[in-house]
Amino acid sequence: MRLSALAYWGLTVSSLVSKCGIDCGACPWGPHPRKGMSAKDFEQYRQKAKRILGYMPIKTPCLTCQISDVEIPKESKLPNKKCLIRRCVDKAGVANCSYCTRFPCDTLKATAAAWNRENIEARLGTPITEEEYRSFVEPFEGIQRLNAIRASLKPEEIVEPAKAPAPETRIVGFPKNLPFSKKEIESFEAVHTLLLNLACSSLGLGDTDTFAQQHKLESLRAHVLRFLWILGNYGRFEDAKTSGLVVDAETYIDNRGSEKTLAIWFFVEDTVFNVLSEFGVCCELVALKGAKTEDLTTGTGYLRKKGWVLRMWFEEKVGGTAALKSLQTFAQRLAEKYGSKAFQRFRGADMQILLEK
Ligand code: SF4
Ligand code: SF4
Repeated sequence: MRLSALAYWGLTVSSLVSKCGIDCGACPWGPHPRKGMSAKDFEQYRQKAKRILGYMPIKTPCLTCQISDVEIPKESKLPNKKCLIRRCVDKAGVANCSYCTRFPCDTLKATAAAWNRENIEARLGTPITEEEYRSFVEPFEGIQRLNAIRASLKPEEIVEPAKAPAPETRIVGFPKNLPFSKKEIESFEAVHTLLLNLACSSLGLGDTDTFAQQHKLESLRAHVLRFLWILGNYGRFEDAKTSGLVVDAETYIDNRGSEKTLAIWFFVEDTVFNVLSEFGVCCELVALKGAKTEDLTTGTGYLRKKGWVLRMWFEEKVGGTAALKSLQTFAQRLAEKYGSKAFQRFRGADMQILLEK
Protein backbone atom coordinates (compact mmCIF):
# COMPACT_ATOMS: atom_id res chain seq x y z
CA MET A 1 0.00 0.00 0.00
CA ARG A 2 1.54 3.35 -1.00
CA LEU A 3 1.39 6.51 1.14
CA SER A 4 -0.81 8.21 -1.45
CA ALA A 5 -3.16 5.24 -1.37
CA LEU A 6 -3.34 5.40 2.42
CA ALA A 7 -4.28 9.05 2.25
CA TYR A 8 -6.92 8.23 -0.38
CA TRP A 9 -8.53 5.72 1.97
CA GLY A 10 -8.37 8.19 4.83
CA LEU A 11 -6.00 6.04 6.88
CA THR A 12 -3.89 7.78 9.49
CA VAL A 13 -0.14 7.60 9.99
CA SER A 14 -0.65 5.29 12.96
CA SER A 15 -2.35 2.78 10.69
CA LEU A 16 0.74 2.58 8.48
CA VAL A 17 1.93 -0.99 8.66
CA SER A 18 5.15 -2.25 7.10
CA LYS A 19 5.10 -5.31 4.87
CA CYS A 20 6.30 -7.41 7.81
CA GLY A 21 3.74 -5.93 10.21
CA ILE A 22 5.81 -3.27 11.99
CA ASP A 23 4.02 -0.03 12.90
CA CYS A 24 5.85 2.47 10.67
CA GLY A 25 3.89 5.29 12.31
CA ALA A 26 5.55 4.54 15.67
CA CYS A 27 8.88 3.08 14.46
CA PRO A 28 11.91 4.94 15.92
CA TRP A 29 13.56 4.72 12.49
CA GLY A 30 10.60 6.45 10.85
CA PRO A 31 9.93 10.21 10.75
CA HIS A 32 6.87 10.31 13.02
CA PRO A 33 7.99 9.77 16.65
CA ARG A 34 10.86 12.24 16.22
CA LYS A 35 8.64 15.04 14.89
CA GLY A 36 8.98 18.20 17.03
CA MET A 37 11.97 16.89 19.00
CA SER A 38 14.90 19.24 19.54
CA ALA A 39 18.32 17.94 18.43
CA LYS A 40 19.18 17.25 22.09
CA ASP A 41 15.92 15.37 22.74
CA PHE A 42 16.42 13.32 19.58
CA GLU A 43 19.91 12.35 20.66
CA GLN A 44 18.58 11.18 24.03
CA TYR A 45 15.81 9.29 22.24
CA ARG A 46 18.38 7.55 20.02
CA GLN A 47 20.48 6.54 23.04
CA LYS A 48 17.39 5.14 24.74
CA ALA A 49 16.52 3.12 21.62
CA LYS A 50 20.06 1.78 21.55
CA ARG A 51 19.90 0.72 25.20
CA ILE A 52 16.62 -1.12 24.71
CA LEU A 53 16.89 -2.47 21.16
CA GLY A 54 20.65 -2.59 20.74
CA TYR A 55 20.56 -0.37 17.66
CA MET A 56 20.49 3.40 17.20
CA PRO A 57 17.88 4.97 14.89
CA ILE A 58 19.47 6.57 11.84
CA LYS A 59 19.33 10.35 11.39
CA THR A 60 17.73 10.29 7.93
CA PRO A 61 14.36 8.70 8.65
CA CYS A 62 12.87 5.79 6.78
CA LEU A 63 9.71 6.79 4.92
CA THR A 64 8.23 3.24 5.29
CA CYS A 65 8.82 0.20 3.11
CA GLN A 66 5.45 0.80 1.47
CA ILE A 67 7.00 3.38 -0.88
CA SER A 68 8.49 2.21 -4.16
CA ASP A 69 12.25 2.02 -4.78
CA VAL A 70 12.23 5.20 -6.87
CA GLU A 71 10.60 7.13 -4.04
CA ILE A 72 13.37 6.27 -1.56
CA PRO A 73 15.47 9.42 -1.00
CA LYS A 74 19.03 9.00 -2.30
CA GLU A 75 20.56 9.82 1.10
CA SER A 76 18.42 7.25 2.92
CA LYS A 77 19.66 3.76 3.82
CA LEU A 78 16.12 2.60 4.61
CA PRO A 79 13.89 0.97 3.61
CA ASN A 80 16.28 -1.73 2.50
CA LYS A 81 15.77 -2.32 -1.22
CA LYS A 82 17.05 -5.86 -0.81
CA CYS A 83 14.71 -6.81 2.06
CA LEU A 84 13.38 -10.27 1.13
CA ILE A 85 10.02 -9.75 2.79
CA ARG A 86 9.47 -6.44 1.02
CA ARG A 87 10.33 -8.01 -2.33
CA CYS A 88 8.27 -11.14 -1.66
CA VAL A 89 5.18 -9.13 -0.67
CA ASP A 90 5.57 -6.88 -3.72
CA LYS A 91 5.82 -9.89 -6.01
CA ALA A 92 2.61 -11.29 -4.52
CA GLY A 93 0.96 -7.92 -5.19
CA VAL A 94 -0.43 -7.45 -1.66
CA ALA A 95 0.05 -4.90 1.13
CA ASN A 96 1.71 -7.13 3.69
CA CYS A 97 2.34 -10.74 4.72
CA SER A 98 -1.06 -11.20 6.38
CA TYR A 99 -2.54 -11.70 2.89
CA CYS A 100 -0.31 -14.67 2.10
CA THR A 101 -1.32 -18.34 2.38
CA ARG A 102 2.09 -19.13 3.93
CA PHE A 103 1.75 -16.48 6.64
CA PRO A 104 3.74 -16.56 8.87
CA CYS A 105 6.66 -18.12 6.95
CA ASP A 106 10.07 -18.60 8.59
CA THR A 107 11.55 -15.54 6.88
CA LEU A 108 8.79 -13.40 8.36
CA LYS A 109 9.02 -14.97 11.81
CA ALA A 110 12.76 -14.31 11.95
CA THR A 111 12.09 -10.60 11.36
CA ALA A 112 8.68 -9.78 12.78
CA ALA A 113 9.00 -11.91 15.90
CA ALA A 114 12.58 -10.94 16.73
CA TRP A 115 11.76 -8.14 19.17
CA ASN A 116 9.13 -8.55 21.86
CA ARG A 117 8.86 -7.59 25.51
CA GLU A 118 9.96 -11.00 26.76
CA ASN A 119 13.21 -11.32 24.82
CA ILE A 120 14.15 -7.63 25.17
CA GLU A 121 13.72 -7.85 28.97
CA ALA A 122 15.64 -11.13 29.05
CA ARG A 123 18.53 -9.52 27.15
CA LEU A 124 18.52 -6.42 29.36
CA GLY A 125 18.15 -8.50 32.51
CA THR A 126 15.59 -6.03 33.84
CA PRO A 127 11.94 -5.10 33.16
CA ILE A 128 11.23 -2.12 30.90
CA THR A 129 8.65 0.56 31.74
CA GLU A 130 5.26 0.76 30.01
CA GLU A 131 6.38 3.91 28.22
CA GLU A 132 9.55 2.19 26.98
CA TYR A 133 7.51 -0.78 25.85
CA ARG A 134 5.04 1.38 23.90
CA SER A 135 7.75 3.56 22.30
CA PHE A 136 10.40 0.99 21.44
CA VAL A 137 9.06 -2.55 21.53
CA GLU A 138 5.36 -2.63 20.68
CA PRO A 139 5.90 -1.10 17.18
CA PHE A 140 8.00 -4.17 16.32
CA GLU A 141 5.50 -6.82 17.41
CA GLY A 142 4.64 -7.43 13.79
CA ILE A 143 3.16 -10.91 13.97
CA GLN A 144 0.36 -9.80 16.35
CA ARG A 145 -0.40 -6.83 14.11
CA LEU A 146 -0.53 -9.03 11.02
CA ASN A 147 -2.68 -11.59 12.86
CA ALA A 148 -5.20 -8.84 13.56
CA ILE A 149 -5.23 -7.80 9.89
CA ARG A 150 -5.50 -11.45 8.82
CA ALA A 151 -8.55 -11.93 11.05
CA SER A 152 -10.29 -9.11 9.18
CA LEU A 153 -9.64 -10.52 5.69
CA LYS A 154 -12.13 -12.41 3.55
CA PRO A 155 -10.88 -15.83 2.26
CA GLU A 156 -10.80 -14.52 -1.33
CA GLU A 157 -8.35 -11.79 -0.28
CA ILE A 158 -5.69 -14.34 0.73
CA VAL A 159 -3.24 -15.07 -2.08
CA GLU A 160 -0.55 -17.59 -2.98
CA PRO A 161 3.01 -16.31 -2.38
CA ALA A 162 5.42 -15.53 -5.20
CA LYS A 163 7.39 -18.66 -6.05
CA ALA A 164 11.06 -19.07 -6.92
CA PRO A 165 12.46 -22.23 -8.46
CA ALA A 166 15.36 -23.90 -6.65
CA PRO A 167 18.61 -23.05 -8.44
CA GLU A 168 20.39 -25.92 -10.12
CA THR A 169 22.79 -27.67 -7.73
CA ARG A 170 26.20 -27.74 -9.38
CA ILE A 171 28.19 -30.37 -7.53
CA VAL A 172 31.11 -31.98 -9.32
CA GLY A 173 31.27 -35.77 -8.93
CA PHE A 174 33.89 -37.30 -6.65
CA PRO A 175 37.03 -37.97 -8.76
CA LYS A 176 38.12 -41.51 -9.53
CA ASN A 177 41.66 -42.84 -9.11
CA LEU A 178 42.87 -40.33 -6.54
CA PRO A 179 46.58 -40.83 -5.81
CA PHE A 180 46.05 -41.52 -2.09
CA SER A 181 45.69 -44.48 0.27
CA LYS A 182 42.26 -46.10 0.72
CA LYS A 183 41.82 -44.41 4.12
CA GLU A 184 42.73 -40.98 2.76
CA ILE A 185 40.32 -41.40 -0.15
CA GLU A 186 37.56 -42.27 2.33
CA SER A 187 38.27 -39.06 4.24
CA PHE A 188 38.13 -36.92 1.09
CA GLU A 189 34.91 -38.67 0.14
CA ALA A 190 33.47 -37.81 3.58
CA VAL A 191 34.21 -34.13 2.88
CA HIS A 192 32.67 -34.42 -0.58
CA THR A 193 29.53 -36.00 0.91
CA LEU A 194 29.30 -33.23 3.49
CA LEU A 195 29.47 -30.52 0.82
CA LEU A 196 26.95 -32.40 -1.34
CA ASN A 197 24.54 -32.77 1.59
CA LEU A 198 24.83 -29.07 2.42
CA ALA A 199 24.18 -28.19 -1.23
CA CYS A 200 21.05 -30.36 -1.46
CA SER A 201 19.51 -29.73 1.97
CA SER A 202 16.86 -27.15 2.84
CA LEU A 203 18.98 -26.53 6.00
CA GLY A 204 15.93 -26.79 8.23
CA LEU A 205 13.94 -24.10 6.39
CA GLY A 206 10.35 -24.69 5.33
CA ASP A 207 8.41 -23.19 2.39
CA THR A 208 11.55 -23.07 0.26
CA ASP A 209 9.45 -22.86 -2.91
CA THR A 210 8.59 -19.24 -2.03
CA PHE A 211 10.61 -16.27 -3.20
CA ALA A 212 11.58 -15.15 0.32
CA GLN A 213 12.49 -18.57 1.66
CA GLN A 214 14.36 -19.65 -1.49
CA HIS A 215 16.54 -16.55 -1.31
CA LYS A 216 16.98 -16.99 2.43
CA LEU A 217 18.09 -20.58 1.84
CA GLU A 218 20.63 -19.56 -0.80
CA SER A 219 22.04 -16.89 1.46
CA LEU A 220 22.19 -19.26 4.45
CA ARG A 221 23.90 -21.94 2.36
CA ALA A 222 26.51 -19.44 1.15
CA HIS A 223 27.18 -18.33 4.74
CA VAL A 224 27.49 -21.90 6.07
CA LEU A 225 29.83 -22.91 3.23
CA ARG A 226 31.90 -19.75 3.64
CA PHE A 227 32.26 -20.57 7.34
CA LEU A 228 33.52 -24.07 6.47
CA TRP A 229 35.84 -22.54 3.89
CA ILE A 230 37.36 -20.07 6.34
CA LEU A 231 38.00 -22.80 8.92
CA GLY A 232 39.23 -25.24 6.26
CA ASN A 233 41.54 -22.85 4.46
CA TYR A 234 42.80 -20.64 7.28
CA GLY A 235 42.33 -22.91 10.32
CA ARG A 236 45.26 -24.53 12.08
CA PHE A 237 45.47 -27.67 14.17
CA GLU A 238 46.71 -25.98 17.29
CA ASP A 239 45.54 -28.27 20.04
CA ALA A 240 46.77 -31.84 19.74
CA LYS A 241 44.38 -33.00 22.47
CA THR A 242 41.14 -31.77 20.95
CA SER A 243 41.99 -32.15 17.25
CA GLY A 244 39.98 -29.16 16.11
CA LEU A 245 40.75 -26.55 13.46
CA VAL A 246 41.19 -23.13 15.03
CA VAL A 247 41.02 -19.73 13.35
CA ASP A 248 41.78 -16.38 14.99
CA ALA A 249 39.32 -13.49 15.12
CA GLU A 250 41.09 -11.20 12.65
CA THR A 251 41.55 -13.90 10.00
CA TYR A 252 37.94 -14.96 10.32
CA ILE A 253 36.52 -11.43 10.07
CA ASP A 254 38.83 -10.47 7.17
CA ASN A 255 37.93 -13.48 5.03
CA ARG A 256 34.12 -13.44 5.03
CA GLY A 257 33.95 -12.54 1.34
CA SER A 258 30.38 -11.53 0.44
CA GLU A 259 29.00 -13.35 3.49
CA LYS A 260 29.22 -10.34 5.79
CA THR A 261 26.58 -11.58 8.23
CA LEU A 262 29.20 -14.02 9.54
CA ALA A 263 30.33 -11.11 11.73
CA ILE A 264 27.04 -11.08 13.67
CA TRP A 265 27.56 -13.35 16.65
CA PHE A 266 23.85 -14.05 17.17
CA PHE A 267 23.58 -15.34 13.58
CA VAL A 268 26.75 -17.43 13.85
CA GLU A 269 25.80 -19.03 17.16
CA ASP A 270 22.07 -19.49 16.57
CA THR A 271 22.06 -20.33 12.89
CA VAL A 272 25.45 -21.38 11.47
CA PHE A 273 26.47 -23.51 14.47
CA ASN A 274 23.02 -25.14 14.62
CA VAL A 275 22.91 -25.92 10.90
CA LEU A 276 26.40 -27.42 10.95
CA SER A 277 25.70 -29.50 14.05
CA GLU A 278 22.88 -31.22 12.11
CA PHE A 279 25.60 -32.41 9.70
CA GLY A 280 27.98 -33.62 12.41
CA VAL A 281 30.15 -30.49 12.37
CA CYS A 282 30.73 -28.98 15.83
CA CYS A 283 31.83 -25.41 16.43
CA GLU A 284 32.52 -23.17 19.37
CA LEU A 285 33.79 -19.68 20.05
CA VAL A 286 36.52 -19.65 22.67
CA ALA A 287 37.38 -16.48 24.58
CA LEU A 288 41.12 -15.91 24.88
CA LYS A 289 42.72 -15.74 28.30
CA GLY A 290 41.90 -12.43 29.96
CA ALA A 291 39.12 -11.49 27.50
CA LYS A 292 35.71 -10.86 29.07
CA THR A 293 32.68 -12.38 27.30
CA GLU A 294 31.00 -8.95 27.06
CA ASP A 295 34.05 -7.55 25.23
CA LEU A 296 33.95 -10.10 22.41
CA THR A 297 31.14 -8.30 20.57
CA THR A 298 30.24 -4.66 19.96
CA GLY A 299 27.11 -3.12 21.49
CA THR A 300 25.25 -4.01 18.31
CA GLY A 301 26.26 -7.67 18.38
CA TYR A 302 29.13 -7.68 15.86
CA LEU A 303 32.15 -9.86 16.66
CA ARG A 304 35.21 -7.80 17.43
CA LYS A 305 38.50 -8.56 15.69
CA LYS A 306 40.25 -9.73 18.86
CA GLY A 307 39.78 -11.63 22.08
CA TRP A 308 38.50 -14.95 20.71
CA VAL A 309 39.12 -17.85 18.35
CA LEU A 310 36.73 -20.19 16.54
CA ARG A 311 37.17 -23.92 16.80
CA MET A 312 35.61 -26.57 14.57
CA TRP A 313 35.77 -30.37 14.68
CA PHE A 314 33.99 -33.24 12.92
CA GLU A 315 32.05 -35.99 14.65
CA GLU A 316 33.18 -39.53 13.85
CA LYS A 317 30.04 -40.13 11.75
CA VAL A 318 31.30 -37.54 9.24
CA GLY A 319 34.88 -38.77 9.27
CA GLY A 320 36.32 -37.22 12.45
CA THR A 321 39.79 -35.69 12.49
CA ALA A 322 40.93 -37.48 9.33
CA ALA A 323 38.12 -35.82 7.32
CA LEU A 324 38.88 -32.47 8.94
CA LYS A 325 42.48 -32.80 7.72
CA SER A 326 41.19 -33.66 4.26
CA LEU A 327 38.99 -30.56 4.32
CA GLN A 328 42.07 -28.49 5.10
CA THR A 329 44.15 -30.12 2.34
CA PHE A 330 41.35 -29.66 -0.21
CA ALA A 331 40.69 -26.01 0.72
CA GLN A 332 44.35 -25.05 0.82
CA ARG A 333 45.11 -26.66 -2.53
CA LEU A 334 42.20 -24.78 -4.09
CA ALA A 335 43.32 -21.49 -2.52
CA GLU A 336 46.88 -22.00 -3.75
CA LYS A 337 45.81 -22.60 -7.33
CA TYR A 338 42.70 -20.45 -7.75
CA GLY A 339 43.16 -17.61 -5.23
CA SER A 340 40.01 -15.48 -4.93
CA LYS A 341 38.09 -17.86 -7.24
CA ALA A 342 38.79 -20.90 -5.05
CA PHE A 343 35.64 -20.57 -2.93
CA GLN A 344 33.39 -21.16 -5.97
CA ARG A 345 35.13 -24.51 -6.62
CA PHE A 346 34.89 -25.37 -2.94
CA ARG A 347 31.11 -24.72 -3.01
CA GLY A 348 30.85 -27.06 -5.98
CA ALA A 349 32.88 -29.76 -4.12
CA ASP A 350 35.17 -29.76 -7.15
CA MET A 351 37.95 -32.12 -6.00
CA GLN A 352 39.63 -32.52 -9.40
CA ILE A 353 42.57 -30.59 -7.98
CA LEU A 354 43.44 -33.62 -5.85
CA LEU A 355 44.35 -35.48 -9.05
CA GLU A 356 47.17 -33.00 -9.62
CA LYS A 357 50.57 -33.82 -8.17
S1 SF4 B 1 12.39 0.80 9.30
FE1 SF4 B 1 10.71 -0.62 8.78
S2 SF4 B 1 9.16 -0.28 10.32
FE2 SF4 B 1 10.56 1.45 10.44
S3 SF4 B 1 9.61 2.99 9.13
FE3 SF4 B 1 11.02 1.83 7.87
S4 SF4 B 1 9.78 0.21 6.93
FE4 SF4 B 1 8.62 1.04 8.64
S1 SF4 C 1 6.09 -16.11 1.73
FE1 SF4 C 1 6.50 -13.92 1.36
S2 SF4 C 1 4.51 -12.89 1.47
FE2 SF4 C 1 4.28 -14.95 2.37
S3 SF4 C 1 4.58 -14.64 4.59
FE3 SF4 C 1 6.57 -15.17 3.72
S4 SF4 C 1 7.57 -13.23 3.21
FE4 SF4 C 1 5.39 -12.82 3.54
